[in-house]
Amino acid sequence: MKNANCPKCGSGEVYSGAELIVKDGPIASLLKGGPFASNSIPISLSSMAPIDNYVCVNCGYVEHYISDRSKLKEIAKKWDKASVNKSDNDSDE
Ligand SMILES: [Zn+2]
Repeated sequence: MKNANCPKCGSGEVYSGAELIVKDGPIASLLKGGPFASNSIPISLSSMAPIDNYVCVNCGYVEHYISDRSKLKEIAKKWDKASVNKSDNDSDE
């Protein structure tokens, strides 16, 4: 969908709201708790990952991406891996 084609209906009418999101800097912290804050997911108690939305305006399908590579690495470190054989590696801090 990032390459502008909807996986559901095949339409090329896909729009990105990525530019709407203030990802870093003082304005980002000012907006904390505001309407833009909902456009992110919590990674940990102190860290949020901003989400880019891609919307097909033909059928209404929405996809979400985390565009920040460093946040993806953070998730890989901090979250449990979704796997069938979950290891007993629980470490409560
Ligand atoms: Zn579509």
